[in-house]
Amino acid sequence: MTKKIGFLGLGHMGGPMAANLVTAGYDVLAFDPVPAAQDKAREDGATVVATAAAAATDRDVVITMLPNGKLVLDVYADLLPAATPGTLFIDCSTIDVADAKAAAALAAGAGHRALDAPVSGGVAGAAAGTLTFMVGGGEQDFADAADVLNVMGGKVVHCGGSGVGQAAKICNNMLLGISMIGLSEALVLGEKLGLSHQSFFDVVSTASGQSWALTSYCPVPGPVPTSPANNDYQPGFATALMTKDLGLAANALRDNGVDGLLGLLASEIYTRFNQDRAGLDFSAIVTDIRSRSDQEDAE
Ligand code: NAD
Repeated sequence: MTKKIGFLGLGHMGGPMAANLVTAGYDVLAFDPVPAAQDKAREDGATVVATAAAAATDRDVVITMLPNGKLVLDVYADLLPAATPGTLFIDCSTIDVADAKAAAALAAGAGHRALDAPVSGGVAGAAAGTLTFMVGGGEQDFADAADVLNVMGGKVVHCGGSGVGQAAKICNNMLLGISMIGLSEALVLGEKLGLSHQSFFDVVSTASGQSWALTSYCPVPGPVPTSPANNDYQPGFATALMTKDLGLAANALRDNGVDGLLGLLASEIYTRFNQDRAGLDFSAIVTDIRSRSDQEDAE
């Protein structure tokens, strides 16, 4: 078993992920510049160090869980020279495919190994150790990471080479964003035509318009009692995070010449909604579509 881990980024996701590694018996050196995150990591049993470089010194594996790709690349510049050659770097942040490939290339250039391993499952999955990891990188590196990833995750999928884990993440979330908007438009149209939410659900959940957004995460209160719609749209998966992921997907669509009209439009629609409702669950987009439709009715 890999024993010595460095962990950088002890926020909503990284904090509980690092805590699960400690609980599983790993020796974790942790770094985050925010004092509250440091205090929590200490409480959870990690050894908090004073600099990023210190967290990468004499480690078998170094994990990063950071807000964006620029930060990952900046932090790698400190970490790579401090690490023992051959250290396995695992970046779990959600970042651009291009940044993920650049980070892996930097690691390889410094004599290390690297995987991109973004996650889905949110804060609840991070706390429960049931995240899904989508991993890009070499076969042997993936095999060497398995024990560590299985502590933090319930499902670990090797998607392909460097950057392909990030590709899986943004393709999934682009589809989710598009499908939530499509579902919300259909629900609001149903409302205008006199179709109750429950009747909509009873028909569509077993018909060809069925989707995860409807059956597990219904954006109106009632049909799926556990969905954020029943809790004033408290996240769940915040609009700010969906907007970020759709921005990454939009970049990838453009960079790769994909005729992705719906993906680009979904990014625009969430960017607008994010301006004043970033903290609401992303399924609250239905409320925006409804209020904009009511305004149009009134005109
Ligand atoms: P967060 O903002 O809560 O945590 C990020 C942490 O990184 C913060 O504690 C911050 O202080 C720390 N940090 C900043 N600069 C640092 C540095 N130089 N060195 C070490 N730490 C540094 O964000 P989060 O919600 O934990 O998300 C982390 C990543 O996971 C993001 O890329 C996000 O897109 C992705 N993600 C989040 C969720 C979710 O539900 N929150 C779900 C899936 C994926």
